[in-house]
Amino acid sequence: MAESARIVILGGSFGGLTTAFELKRHLRNQADITVVCDLDKFVFIPSLPWVSMGWRQPDDITIPLDEILSPKGITFINEEATGVDPDSSKVITANQEIPYDYLVIATGPALVFSAVPGLGPDEGYTECIFTLEQAQKCHKAWERFLEEPGPVVVGSVQGVSCFGPPYEYVFEIDTELRKRKIRHKVPITFITSEPYIGHFGIGGVRKSKRIMEDEFADREIKILTNVAVEEFTPDEVRLKDGTKIPFKLAMFAPPMAGVKAVFHLGNEKGFIPVDSNYRHKQYSNIFSVGVAVAMAPPEKTPIPTGLPKTGYMTVEMAKAAAKTIAADITGKEPPQVEPVGAVCLMDMGSTAAIMIAKPVVPPRQKAELKAGVQYKWLKAGFEKYFLWKIKRGLTQLP
Ligand SMILES: Cc1cc2nc3c(=O)[nH]c(=O)nc-3n(C[C@H](O)[C@H](O)[C@H](O)COP(=O)(O)OP(=O)(O)OC[C@H]3O[C@@H](n4cnc5c(N)ncnc54)[C@H](O)[C@@H]3O)c2cc1C
Repeated sequence: MAESARIVILGGSFGGLTTAFELKRHLRNQADITVVCDLDKFVFIPSLPWVSMGWRQPDDITIPLDEILSPKGITFINEEATGVDPDSSKVITANQEIPYDYLVIATGPALVFSAVPGLGPDEGYTECIFTLEQAQKCHKAWERFLEEPGPVVVGSVQGVSCFGPPYEYVFEIDTELRKRKIRHKVPITFITSEPYIGHFGIGGVRKSKRIMEDEFADREIKILTNVAVEEFTPDEVRLKDGTKIPFKLAMFAPPMAGVKAVFHLGNEKGFIPVDSNYRHKQYSNIFSVGVAVAMAPPEKTPIPTGLPKTGYMTVEMAKAAAKTIAADITGKEPPQVEPVGAVCLMDMGSTAAIMIAKPVVPPRQKAELKAGVQYKWLKAGFEKYFLWKIKRGLTQLP
């Protein structure tokens, strides 16, 4: 190994940045840390639904990665990794090969719009809010929709794991339409592959089914659960059971897979198999955190669903991986890592909900789901706090 360990991190988001800062804190000049990311900025993804509603502008929720990383002595390479050679320990980009002693894969998901014909904003007929560009495009579609409103369909197709954003979006649409006093012109249907509303891919959280049923009923949003989509046409969702639902505006979550550059290091979906310390099961100098990690869903559902990997979970994984790498380099015992838990604030338009699931997969030591306007303020405050924290590299703070 070189004098100071060369650690390369793929991805400059929740997982990549947290790992980079934590490693720097643990190892200081014992490591040369490089972050490789195709994007040149950190995007606070949880606020993308607000961008799609016009409640946030891109500048409100993004920070240039160079501004974050350079002051901390972390090298930033603004390139897409096109491959990884685990045998020669190199990351490959279009312009260079980057050797590493340790590699951390924090590349998040590839969005699989090809899973259902007509799905997605590029080649299909549905909007998406999973990237900044998609959220901005969705906002344009929303503005066009407001000129001539009609039926709205929101939901998650079969195979989805990240269920939260469609819930947030449908509640926000309802809130905004009521504010504009045109809710009576818009039938709203929520379609999901979850076996019941409030399942969230994690087998529900305490009374999540009952609470969510009430929230949808209060807002008069029709729910269809346990359904798979056959195809989307320009103005209709066609379900596998033959039901057809017309729409003027549709927003659907897609299934996810691992990104191309690291797909060969993963399972059949390209997600990286890791041990309890987030170390690759086959390659001991490769780690993975966040959405890139392979995690089995808690139960088999009639329509396939996956386990969501949230921002909170990602940060927890990154801290554990950084501690383990630091222990390796300094010749210490690796830390004992507990199964990952989740704390999530879900926007509900006029209110919000807090969800705690520790661990994420049942049985749990701690579980909570509560709704109230105070959680909306908490969510808005958390956005500002997280952006402040990440800009300064203060990932050791809660
Ligand atoms: C709309 C939406 C709302 C959400 N809301 C919440 C919420 O309220 N609370 C919560 O806890 N979680 C929320 N989540 C989940 C949360 O955003 C994710 O858990 C988190 O972003 C995962 O972080 P990550 O670092 O693993 O991956 P990502 O955030 O996806 O980041 C991956 C990074 O890797 C880069 N990358 C990808 N491929 C390459 C490559 N080949 N070479 C170089 N760089 C590459 C990407 O550009 C990106 O910068 C939400 C998710 C979505 C989509």
